[in-house]
Amino acid sequence: MTRHLDSLGRIVIPKETCRLLGLHGGVPLEFFLNEDTQEIILRRYGCSFCGTLDEETVQYRGIYVCGTCRRELMQRVRVDTEAVSQL
Ligand SMILES: [Zn+2]
Repeated sequence: MTRHLDSLGRIVIPKETCRLLGLHGGVPLEFFLNEDTQEIILRRYGCSFCGTLDEETVQYRGIYVCGTCRRELMQRVRVDTEAVSQL
């Protein structure tokens, strides 16, 4: 897939890519540049689950998780673990 920069240095992210990643106008993105390979990597900046960016947001294995989603995930793990232990 190829996109061209416009005269102002902008590109349009393909609609399907936006849909798959849950990107929409206003979502903050991070740029990473590898000068050796001349690659530019764009990554959603903010919680990968809900898009929130707060002071509790942490990065885990390359994705961001906000405090609320982290607590919900931990609660879900506890419930699942209890369910498995009752088998
Ligand atoms: Zn979240």
